[in-house]
Amino acid sequence: MPVFDSRSFKDHEQVVFISDEKTGLKAIVAVHSTALGPATGGCRFWDYYATHKGSPVDVAQTRGEQDAVYDVLRLSRGMSYKNAMAGLRLGGGKSVIIGNSRELGTPELMAAFGRAVNKLGGMYYAAEDVGTSPDMMEAVHTETDYVAGLAEGEFATGDPSPHTALGVFVGIKAACEHKYGSDSLEGKTVAIQGVGHVGAVLADHLRDAGAKIIIADIVQSNIDAVLKNGPAEVVEPSRIHAVDCDVFAPCALGGGINPKTIPEIKAKVIAGAANNVLETEGVDDQALMERGILYAPDYVINAGGIISVEFEVHKEKIQGDMRKTKVLRIGETLKEVFETAEKDGRPSGIVANEMAEAIIKAAQDKTLSAAAE
Ligand code: NAD
Repeated sequence: MPVFDSRSFKDHEQVVFISDEKTGLKAIVAVHSTALGPATGGCRFWDYYATHKGSPVDVAQTRGEQDAVYDVLRLSRGMSYKNAMAGLRLGGGKSVIIGNSRELGTPELMAAFGRAVNKLGGMYYAAEDVGTSPDMMEAVHTETDYVAGLAEGEFATGDPSPHTALGVFVGIKAACEHKYGSDSLEGKTVAIQGVGHVGAVLADHLRDAGAKIIIADIVQSNIDAVLKNGPAEVVEPSRIHAVDCDVFAPCALGGGINPKTIPEIKAKVIAGAANNVLETEGVDDQALMERGILYAPDYVINAGGIISVEFEVHKEKIQGDMRKTKVLRIGETLKEVFETAEKDGRPSGIVANEMAEAIIKAAQDKTLSAAAE
């Protein structure tokens, strides 16, 4: 498999492969860029081999590990873009641990991962992600301080989800202003796909702002929790993207915007928390643009959580409204993306990528010219 010439490897500063025989740890840390600060991004624990179950063992192993490499590289670059667009002093990185987290994710294995992260000397900060829990990150923390999003500690910032939800809420308002000429949500209908940690808090913000909400989830208790706080129409998960509404807010898994769903979407705005919501970047956002649907790039609108984590990485106490003020700026950033995309007649996802790349390049140039002086 070509590595150095692959599109996903492009521009990475460093990729580290880690193993620990005693605990069975197999992990990869990808540092895309430290131009803006320490590379910061989640630690994903995922059974990449399971996808290739049924293939001969050596084939499943090779393909699973290829998937893990591809995933960590793609995600670490995504973190660089997200952190740059949020105006943070953080670079982009990500880690993956390969295997079934329920079977393998012991405190001992997480501690071994922590020792490996510690050896990177602060180049990479790990946080919780799919397959890792607060307890597992505490186990990482027993071996390193280069971990963030912790529940307890002097600078701990706790659960990032409410901040992500606030950012998505202001992003929806910014998108409505651009598309419908007003940021008021009074009388607007918003369809939320997935009412988990982010979607449930978003539902409260939307109802408080006078919006009608339609929700879907595959877990009934999550729907019940939202209904406890106020009214919502509930639809089947398979229908949520196609309901009559002004805004579609995907807050479940990635890949939900694709050639199958795009023709069925009735909303003129797509703005939600889900990461990697486009199945194919550059293709699906082009199709949305052609259908007159405004798309708020996922990593721009869902940056509230990492904005919160930045305080912890830089060991800063959060005073007053400083975190909220930063999260609210997501609306301004999106406005810039929407206006540029419209002026240039180009997909908003591509425009956001270019803006992020320009911010990272300016920081790299500044470092180089400072070194030359
Ligand atoms: P979560 O797991 O708490 O919630 C996701 C919800 O979606 C769950 O309730 C799940 O049951 C539901 N769901 C799964 N498949 C579904 C389907 N097909 N149809 C309808 N519902 C479905 O996750 P979360 O923390 O709320 O994050 C939501 C999304 O936002 C994820 O893509 C995540 O990567 C992204 N994100 C989250 C944060 C954060 O701070 N939590 C930050 C940035 C991005």
